Amino acid sequence: PFDVLVVGGGPAGTAAAIYAARKGIRTGVAAERFGGQVLDTMAIENFISVAHTEGPKLAAQLEQHVRDYDVDVMNLQRATALVPAGADGLVEVKLENGASLKSKTVVLSTGARWRQMGVPGEDQYRNRGVAYCPHCDGPLFKGKRVAVIGGGNSGVEAAIDLAGIVAHVTLIEFDARLRADEVLQRKLRSLENVRIITSAQTTEVLGDGGKVTGLVYRDRVGGDAHRLALEGVFVQIGLLPNTEWLEGTVALSPRAEIVVDDRGQTSVAGVFAAGDCTTVPYKQIVIAMGEGSKAALAAFDHLIRSTAP
Ligand code: FAD
Repeated sequence: PFDVLVVGGGPAGTAAAIYAARKGIRTGVAAERFGGQVLDTMAIENFISVAHTEGPKLAAQLEQHVRDYDVDVMNLQRATALVPAGADGLVEVKLENGASLKSKTVVLSTGARWRQMGVPGEDQYRNRGVAYCPHCDGPLFKGKRVAVIGGGNSGVEAAIDLAGIVAHVTLIEFDARLRADEVLQRKLRSLENVRIITSAQTTEVLGDGGKVTGLVYRDRVGGDAHRLALEGVFVQIGLLPNTEWLEGTVALSPRAEIVVDDRGQTSVAGVFAAGDCTTVPYKQIVIAMGEGSKAALAAFDHLIRSTAP
């Protein structure tokens, strides 16, 4: 069995694997897609100490750094169930291919995915005007016009944030009213370069073949279609943690995030979690790496306290 088995090979999982392997203990990583969300990212300009890099390059470096150590890397492996430790003290992780892995401790780092609108143009212009992370991509739209889709807390926070960087923000909400906290709505309404459109369903992202040039929305009251000319569309309709496979075994928050304490401990003994799949606020690469490192150190601490001499 492993001492530490990491499930997920994004920034959190690779950091956890490296920290565990450096303790000289038996470490494995099982990941559906090594690299995680970083693979889908173009420019990365907030990876501290690296002024500019690109997603696929960073993903390759993450994998190489893990392979520099004695880590059992199992790529293209999807976990489907977690079984808490029984009398043998081993946690079991079942894989889609029918195999199962056993480990004294497990670090869950399966990440999350942004909910998409599912309209024409969204996929085609992803990273070419369609963005999901204002902290990451906001500065790329300096002085330009953008739309934010979604009037919940994350959409309104994104619109307030972007209004300080871009020329103009149009916030588009499907419902008749915004769902964000009142204090955020007041702040948003106080900004001069923000327009709020409610009862509006985005139906298409427009582009010139290379980049976004606008969007089309349907007025849900009158029924007519409207066009907006702009350079960017930030989709803020939800971040979905990849935790479906843990329902019923590990305590999840109402947003389906794995509940962790300040050492990454979950509700199950010997099981830790880190990164975008957890309740830790702000989903970013450097944060996921820090949390992954912390979870591995907590797992090591658990091992030295619970293993007989
Ligand atoms: P992830 O990166 O999501 O990795 C999860 C891992 O778990 C993957 O290997 C996945 O295949 C695996 N997995 C999932 N389910 C299973 C399963 N059941 N079994 C086995 N493996 C599983 N952050 C920044 O800091 N700067 C940026 O510029 C930036 N730009 C971004 C641009 C885009 C388009 C996106 C989508 C995100 C961006 N982010 C950025 C956010 C950043 O990518 C995430 O915060 C970070 O990748 C989270 O790391 P993670 O390891 O927690 O999860």
